[in-house]
Amino acid sequence: MSTVIRGAKVKVWNDYTKDHREDLQGESIVIPASSYIELPRAKAIRLVSQFWPVYKAGETNTPPKMLRIDPKREAIAALEESSFKNNCMACEQGFNTQRELDVHIEMNHEHLMVDEEGVKNVKKSSKSRQRTGS
Ligand SMILES: [Zn+2]
Repeated sequence: MSTVIRGAKVKVWNDYTKDHREDLQGESIVIPASSYIELPRAKAIRLVSQFWPVYKAGETNTPPKMLRIDPKREAIAALEESSFKNNCMACEQGFNTQRELDVHIEMNHEHLMVDEEGVKNVKKSSKSRQRTGS
């Protein structure tokens, strides 16, 4: 079984009549018009609060950013995440075990690990979990 990222997910709605496209930390995010996608809570908050040029009708080609996080799901997710024992220092996503956190860090924030010994430990831990027989 592959690693399940247990960071609680929330719904991010796009209230605009066209698809919303935005880059978030090198990842291309697309939310369909008048619809939603599910993202881990920390990522959703980052996306919604990320800088976007102010839309002025007729003056720019940039469409308005009309994103919102479903408040009920967000509250539940926050509660759920507060029960996790292993939280990522970089993005605050929560995980049930140290190994899940290690895998997450290797896949998402390896550049943040400056301590060589720490990098080795994380790699060892995540490999033993998800990279068998490749
Ligand atoms: Zn993280």
